[in-house]
Amino acid sequence: MTSGLQTSIDEAPAYETTLTMPYTLTTGRAAGTFLAELAQHRIVGSRSAGGKVVVPAQDYIDGEEAAELVVVPGTGTVTAWTRTASGALATIRLDGADTDLVHRVLGDTGGLANGARVKAVWSSEPDQGFLTLAGFELGDAPVADAVTPLDSTAEPISMLPYRLELDYRHAYGPYYGRMFDELAAHRRIVGVKCPSCQNVLVPPRGNCDACFVPTAQVVDVADTGILKAFSVIHLEFEGQTRTPPYVYAEITLDGSGTRLIHNVGGFDIDEAGELLHIGMPVRAVWKEGVPPRGALADIDYFEPILGEG
Ligand SMILES: [Zn+2]
Repeated sequence: MTSGLQTSIDEAPAYETTLTMPYTLTTGRAAGTFLAELAQHRIVGSRSAGGKVVVPAQDYIDGEEAAELVVVPGTGTVTAWTRTASGALATIRLDGADTDLVHRVLGDTGGLANGARVKAVWSSEPDQGFLTLAGFELGDAPVADAVTPLDSTAEPISMLPYRLELDYRHAYGPYYGRMFDELAAHRRIVGVKCPSCQNVLVPPRGNCDACFVPTAQVVDVADTGILKAFSVIHLEFEGQTRTPPYVYAEITLDGSGTRLIHNVGGFDIDEAGELLHIGMPVRAVWKEGVPPRGALADIDYFEPILGEG
């Protein structure tokens, strides 16, 4: 194979990226009421038929439907705590409750200890969600004993938009790294051959999926192949690199024995159902006019080879 490539077994090129997962949380009646009542500076729990009080409110307690929603005092006792780089956290047993609430301890936390008394601190900003209850502060709060039935008719907050973001560094490793180097330098796709079953695996990897033996030999595969599966995507979703409609495809490149996920295109998408069929030959259409990135996205799409297969 060509020498002078960037990747060796001793190097692990990587890229940094952010994995984003936006989603909508359906809260349910109890948690939705808990969130809605925070705006009134009330902490809502739920009480079982047997008298157990849990905070935040839950629809079910120990497998039984909760008997009623209740308002729990904003005072309590620290049952456990820790300090983190971004502040102190504690589990707090609110007065009259039978479970602990995890929250921040704000202000001077020098006296933080198990058994310390705390009281709720409310945010002055509106619409802070759970953080409308900003946290708790230490103080000689007298023990309140009044857990009272909730008389409110506040509309439960039924949906919460969330956006999970994870920053991470993905190391290609020597196998993917070699493939990306070959794509960047030569527009060549490589796989690895299993010494036991002789299958050629694309993308290359350290062990055969079927035999579990280490792979060793890097081999070229063609940029032509066979369409093994496809689906016309009409749905829009976060993170798409193409605008629907487009064709998602699984392709087995000539010389390999695995399926590569890519796209099929180069035709009127409305004709995809008529034009495409499983087993038909396809070939890579490489992006022109842009420097190669060293990625499978250097292939714009695979186009059907008509009149064959
Ligand atoms: Zn094998």
